[in-house]
Amino acid sequence: MSTEVTNKEILRGGQFLVKETDCEDVFNLEDLNEEQKMMRESTQEFVDREIWSHWERFEKKDYAYTEQCMRNAGELGLLGIAVPEAYGGLGMGFVSTMLVCDYISGATGSFSTAFGAHTGIGTMPITLYGTEEQKQKYVPKLASGEWFGAYCLTEPGAGSDANSGKTKAVLSDDGKYYSISGQKMWISNAGFCSLFIVFARIEDDKNITGFIVENDPENGITLGDEEKKLGIHSSSTRQVFFNETKVPVENMLSERGNGFKIAMNALNVGRIKLAAACLDAQRRVIGEASKYANERIQFKTPIINFGAIKAKIADMATNCYVGESACYRAAKNIEDRIAIRESEGNSHQEAELKGVEEYAIECSILKVAVSEHCQETTDEGIQIFGGMGFSADTPMESAWRDTRIARIYEGTNEINRMLAVGMLVKKAMKGHVDLLGPATAVGEELMGIPSFDTPDFSALFAEEKDLIQRLKKVFLMVAGSAVQKFGADLENHQQLMMAASDILIEIYMAESTVLRTEKNAKRFGDDAQSIQIAMSKLNLYNAVEKVIQKGKEAIVSFAEGDEQRMMLMGLKRFTKYTNYPNVVALRTQIADKVAADNGYTFD
Ligand SMILES: Cc1cc2nc3c(=O)[nH]c(=O)nc-3n(C[C@H](O)[C@H](O)[C@H](O)COP(=O)(O)OP(=O)(O)OC[C@H]3O[C@@H](n4cnc5c(N)ncnc54)[C@H](O)[C@@H]3O)c2cc1C
Repeated sequence: MSTEVTNKEILRGGQFLVKETDCEDVFNLEDLNEEQKMMRESTQEFVDREIWSHWERFEKKDYAYTEQCMRNAGELGLLGIAVPEAYGGLGMGFVSTMLVCDYISGATGSFSTAFGAHTGIGTMPITLYGTEEQKQKYVPKLASGEWFGAYCLTEPGAGSDANSGKTKAVLSDDGKYYSISGQKMWISNAGFCSLFIVFARIEDDKNITGFIVENDPENGITLGDEEKKLGIHSSSTRQVFFNETKVPVENMLSERGNGFKIAMNALNVGRIKLAAACLDAQRRVIGEASKYANERIQFKTPIINFGAIKAKIADMATNCYVGESACYRAAKNIEDRIAIRESEGNSHQEAELKGVEEYAIECSILKVAVSEHCQETTDEGIQIFGGMGFSADTPMESAWRDTRIARIYEGTNEINRMLAVGMLVKKAMKGHVDLLGPATAVGEELMGIPSFDTPDFSALFAEEKDLIQRLKKVFLMVAGSAVQKFGADLENHQQLMMAASDILIEIYMAESTVLRTEKNAKRFGDDAQSIQIAMSKLNLYNAVEKVIQKGKEAIVSFAEGDEQRMMLMGLKRFTKYTNYPNVVALRTQIADKVAADNGYTFD
């Protein structure tokens, strides 16, 4: 699928913080073309037919059924969406890939994990870093579902510290093969895969190296038992032991010592796709919860009529809408960046790598925000079902358990929070994003006399957009001062990094939501978007509250005396509403619509 590349300047990764985006320049689900809509529909049909109607099988650890569904997904072409046509895939754009990851996740985390591990970290390292021969040999089989892939990075002693693995790769005397020995753990799809992407260390190299290893029990490969897990019961997760496994030298991925880079880049793509894979799970939970709340009578009234339940339904729908808004905004940025790089003469492989790398900050933000939304939504889903929510006979219980892993794999949320801020600071130091200029301007603004003019906030989102610009000033004020104070040692002030990251996350999510709704209100009218407007305002209100809390925490942790007083005053000024939204009325309005539609109908 071709992507139109306009001459308009596309925001670079992290620049959202210092540049204003026009609402016409954000993309979302309302902008899907016919091909993308068809892709979404066929994914939804597949999930309803083969997965949702059998969700109990996934809870009973029916690994064989997961494998069968994976093969069926392969036959439908769903495993090859992102794979170039030259290697047997459909060669669709990044947005289509995200759509499939999103809608495939609606029924059970078991299947979406198997799907994500295979199409993402199990296949992408070869499409992105493989030689022509490697791609010709392996990718068509992976794209069709004839073979399945798994990704072996984690070891008992190397989790978040992924470059510290002990697995060794020793070159044979004749220089024809490497002999790999070591223990990998938590390997998704291990039980049924034909190929492993394995990371191992050659000699005492600083960095690990990637290899493509065919699964052959005769070649020193053994598996541990299936792990007994809290959730994703039918996703195969095993330890993999390599005992002098012979791997031809031509199966090295990229160059010696490039493994850590491959692993991290594969994870960048994995992170944004994982965020997408937390969306339809939310829609499904909202649908089930609203149906239940409409039907369940207590005190002679459907429980949906209770304000306490409405608040939950409204927050759940808002979370989902916010996640969509940010995920598809970033997905289209990535797709456009890939197209620009290709138009400049880069190969698709190189363009895709650089395109995703560019938005690594956004990928981390999305992974954290959407996995946490999903956790909150499934938790409230259980609460709405009451005692029945605690029962394994209803899908709320498994949804809650399944979603827990999303905060752990693809880099824990702690690691991703720190990465988001760390990468931004690095980009600023390299001059890729100008944070210094805007941070200095904020410092000067703080010293000046505030304007006492009454702003005109009559236009739709005038106040919200103004607030978002001011939230950006909070980040610049806090992060700018922290960098000045601690320099490179900032990374050792983790609680401060986490607070700054929370502010950054709120800004990106809130801005994406307001811009999506503003664009849609312009073309479909304010009335048609009244609920989306309410969700955008409710989310921003919550974002402002979080920024106040995290901003205060950060400021008092490192500033004292006059500096502290000035920054706290700045925080107050930058987070001030002129017209507070009535959040109770907003929640009621949102919940009433979800209740009337018996589910989430904003996608
Ligand atoms: C079901 C499942 C499937 C998985 N699938 C795969 C797979 O297919 N392939 C694969 O390679 N791996 C896989 N993993 C592994 C997963 O990526 C790791 O579990 C994850 O990266 C965390 O590593 P760890 O479990 O060793 O935790 P640790 O790294 O030991 O972390 C423990 C805690 O300490 C925190 N922490 C660690 N380091 C820091 C730090 N520097 N600063 C602050 N906090 C820190 C973490 O955030 C976490 O809260 C899977 C895991 C599970 C549970």
